[in-house]
Amino acid sequence: MYDIIVIGSGPAGLSAAITAAARGKSVAVISNSRTESGLFKAPVIDNYPGFPGVSGAELSGKLMVHAQGAGARILSGRVTSALSVTGGINVGYGSEFESGRALILALGIVQTHVFPGEAELLGRGVSYCATCDGMLYRGKKVVVVSLAPDAPEEAEYLRSIGCDVTEVTTTDVVIFGVDRVQSVTADGVSIPCDGVFVLRRTVAPATLLSGLETADGHIAVNDDFSTSVPGVFAAGDCVGPPYQIAKAVGEGQLAAFAAIAYIDRG
Ligand SMILES: Cc1cc2nc3c(=O)[nH]c(=O)nc-3n(C[C@H](O)[C@H](O)[C@H](O)COP(=O)(O)OP(=O)(O)OC[C@H]3O[C@@H](n4cnc5c(N)ncnc54)[C@H](O)[C@@H]3O)c2cc1C
Repeated sequence: MYDIIVIGSGPAGLSAAITAAARGKSVAVISNSRTESGLFKAPVIDNYPGFPGVSGAELSGKLMVHAQGAGARILSGRVTSALSVTGGINVGYGSEFESGRALILALGIVQTHVFPGEAELLGRGVSYCATCDGMLYRGKKVVVVSLAPDAPEEAEYLRSIGCDVTEVTTTDVVIFGVDRVQSVTADGVSIPCDGVFVLRRTVAPATLLSGLETADGHIAVNDDFSTSVPGVFAAGDCVGPPYQIAKAVGEGQLAAFAAIAYIDRG
């Protein structure tokens, strides 16, 4: 078990990881590719103190090297679930799991829109992870809502294990079913199916972790960046504007301090 798991390798997540590792805590950062972070996409940054004119890709690379050098472990994958259990939080990414005594969410700007029917039928035909749940649908008809760069690869994996896959790329989706998924309507066309894989770049925070409160589309945090779930902290764009690197870095550090204090209280 790690002391702290951080989700997201943008400036908020890597700043949190650097601070926590420097304070002697074991830290894992689980994240999509850093090329998906807002920071990486910034062509030229003129307002980050000390680095005028730096590119987002360069600053992101420096932060990554710094975090690794401080001792943080970087794990690659999309986190699809987090579960608060006695003594910590279990985090699922791909088909892997890690546990931490505290969790810091540094997800960037997050997709909070869920499709009608998605939350109600989650775990009853709705899945966020082909690798984890694919085998349950072998020989069955599934819809893949393809909204992440690796989604076509995931759809291909489902085909390779014998699923009958229909891929859709629209965001006009409604999921129907009483106790289980029965069909998906995409752009007004009904597709009968046994399951639907909703593959986004990220997962809406409230769906990712039960009991996590949001406000105005952001994760709600207290002054110390703690959230509504004990042991879970959040920082950066995912907690609200201004969407800026310096703010994300500062909040990442404060969230790390709060997570360290939480762990040290036992
Ligand atoms: C084009 C562009 C130009 C910009 N220019 C500037 C500028 O000049 N100055 C400035 O201050 N700011 C600028 N910004 C804003 C700045 O990039 C963001 O404010 C900053 O990157 C926020 O940091 P963050 O760590 O909160 O989120 P991000 O940098 O977005 O990092 C979040 C990371 O978490 C990952 N993630 C999310 N969900 C999951 C999940 N479920 N599982 C695994 N990984 C996940 C994401 O893929 C991403 O890699 C710019 C942004 C853009 C897009």
